[in-house]
Amino acid sequence: MKREYYCPCCGLFFWHNQYQQNGERIECVGAQCPNPECESQEAPSDYMLFAVDTFGFAYFAEANKEDIDSKKWSSPKYAPENAIEIYRKQGFKIV
Ligand SMILES: [Zn+2]
Repeated sequence: MKREYYCPCCGLFFWHNQYQQNGERIECVGAQCPNPECESQEAPSDYMLFAVDTFGFAYFAEANKEDIDSKKWSSPKYAPENAIEIYRKQGFKIV
């Protein structure tokens, strides 16, 4: 099951598969910004990351609307095609 995340550090919206099959077991995998150029790569635990479907993100987005609007971007590398279509309509930078 994929979940949408936002990295406030580089402005990337990406989709992360929370559960991965490992042999017979299903493991829950924590999300981390997948952008190799993101500053958070150096110390991921020092940076915030939001699951977009949470209240935490809703409040954050409300308070930081302009910042998010100026930084928001995504890429077919990090998000499914149907999400990219929606992002495009919402004025995201797509790379
Ligand atoms: Zn990032």
